Amino acid sequence: MCSANATDDYIPEIGAECRFDNFEGFGVLQASFGYGSDRDGENFHFDLCQACFERLVDTVENLRTAHGVRA
Ligand SMILES: [Zn+2]
Repeated sequence: MCSANATDDYIPEIGAECRFDNFEGFGVLQASFGYGSDRDGENFHFDLCQACFERLVDTVENLRTAHGVRA
């Protein structure tokens, strides 16, 4: 199951189907924050279907643009 959605469904805001019915393609977002950080000791792990991951990539791209980083 995609971490970003409770059901495998069409999501209007993404404009795509949130599907996690196979392992041909999915994205993993993982983060561990060490001591001293604002998220001291917190761990995150999300398995995202391709549609939701694409959205995450768009967000990162927007951040890169906002900060003047462009590949
Ligand atoms: Zn999804």
